[in-house]
Amino acid sequence: MEHPKHLRPVRAWETFRQLILPKLKRFTAHGPKRQDVSRFLRENSVWLRGKYEWLRVNSRRLFLRCHEAVAGRRYAAPVSFLSVSGAVGLVLICTTLYSVSYAVYVDGENVGTVADRDTVAAAISSVEQSSRSLLGYDYTIDNAISYRLGVSRRTELDDKGVFEDYFSSHLDSGEDEGLRQYSVVVGGQFVGVIDSKSAFNAILQDIRSAYVTENTVSAEFVEEIELNPVFASAQVADPEEMRRLLTESTSGETTYTIVKGDTFGGIAYRNDMSVSELKALNPDVNINKLSIGQVINVRELIPRLSVRTTERATYLEAIECPVVTQDDASIYVGSSKILVKGVEGQAEVTADIVRVNGVEKNRTVLEYTTLSEPTTTIKAVGTKPKPKTASNGYYIWPTRGKITSYFGYRKIFGSRSYHSGIDIAGSYGSSIKAADGGKVTFAGYKGAYGYLVIITHDNGSQTYYGHNSSNLVSVGQRVYQGQVIAKMGSTGRSTGNHCHFEVRIRGSAVNPLNYL
Ligand SMILES: [Zn+2]
Repeated sequence: MEHPKHLRPVRAWETFRQLILPKLKRFTAHGPKRQDVSRFLRENSVWLRGKYEWLRVNSRRLFLRCHEAVAGRRYAAPVSFLSVSGAVGLVLICTTLYSVSYAVYVDGENVGTVADRDTVAAAISSVEQSSRSLLGYDYTIDNAISYRLGVSRRTELDDKGVFEDYFSSHLDSGEDEGLRQYSVVVGGQFVGVIDSKSAFNAILQDIRSAYVTENTVSAEFVEEIELNPVFASAQVADPEEMRRLLTESTSGETTYTIVKGDTFGGIAYRNDMSVSELKALNPDVNINKLSIGQVINVRELIPRLSVRTTERATYLEAIECPVVTQDDASIYVGSSKILVKGVEGQAEVTADIVRVNGVEKNRTVLEYTTLSEPTTTIKAVGTKPKPKTASNGYYIWPTRGKITSYFGYRKIFGSRSYHSGIDIAGSYGSSIKAADGGKVTFAGYKGAYGYLVIITHDNGSQTYYGHNSSNLVSVGQRVYQGQVIAKMGSTGRSTGNHCHFEVRIRGSAVNPLNYL
């Protein structure tokens, strides 16, 4: 039972108890501080290193012994077992969090900290090798390198890449420009790696000058641009690629291609914006004439690198007319009429206009000179109570049902034909209601429409309800929004019971789905 090797852990425990424990107690007496712990580890690094080495060499044997003791196969003195466990625990905690380390000094300058000096040697040889292949002749790093022993947190140790970057960035400048590479970081985000600063600066110059005019006072980049020396990267972006990376949109897909059934309002809704916001992105698009396959903008293009310009401009600006209102009992409530139209005034303005990527963000007026004063507009405002049959200015669905045919061009048996409204299917005899209040201007049978009702609304726009089985209103009659005006059928050129609903503005048919 008394095996000499049993004594080893006991001796370790004794050392720990007599030499280390009192120090630990002193630290913990008034609450351990981080610097106390690291000082303790520093002062006792040699002792810890010794224990660590002993543990490393004997760990397997120790493990087997503990295992046997727990399994009851072998008797181990409880004291010895506990002290072994304690020491093992402490050493494990220390070696997990801390490591013996070397602070690395290159020509007296502290460059980093490593666990193993080989890390630095490997970095040097790697930089030398790649320099040689790039330059075509031997390149030797001959800086004075020294080390200082210490203890560091494992998370604070540097890896090979740190030293590679350091040595490659400190290569002699001049003839070895080709060795230098820089990572491009824009607004804190890595963009790519370049090998020439001058080519990169030319790209920046280009991007910036695209927004500069003869009135531009200043032009700068919004994001901070950093160039950090890096060690030979496998992926160097050529100038064209770098230009693309800097100018490409970061807001994802910015366009949308129209498919069957799309409406302007629906697209705006799906892209989380109002119809007017979507219109602003598509100033040239007629929202009533969307065609399948048409491409529209659905998002602002936001490049990775933005240019902010300030332009000093002098321009003429209209001065709005002041408006005076008068009550008028001959006009409906909610309506108004201009009696005297004022004439706008004019001013000369000098302002600083701030734009980001060409889009105005801010305008500061520096000088304002009134050239002519505006005259007053006089407006009559209605006070007459509104009848039920007056138009509300918006449309409700004339009937509920599945849309079986949409507005616009459609393909029937291989040939293109134009559909001037939408078809809403339903059952024979179901109610068809006026989409808004107004006056019936047609009620009768009209060719392909079959039995048709046309309502002319107060603003002059018209709604058509076709293929009815019967009409319930007559010409000249005023109807209110939601009033039943006809029964559904399949008269005229029709293949089933449905309501052909059409909206006409200034005489031309528009997509009803943009108004419902
Ligand atoms: Zn139809």
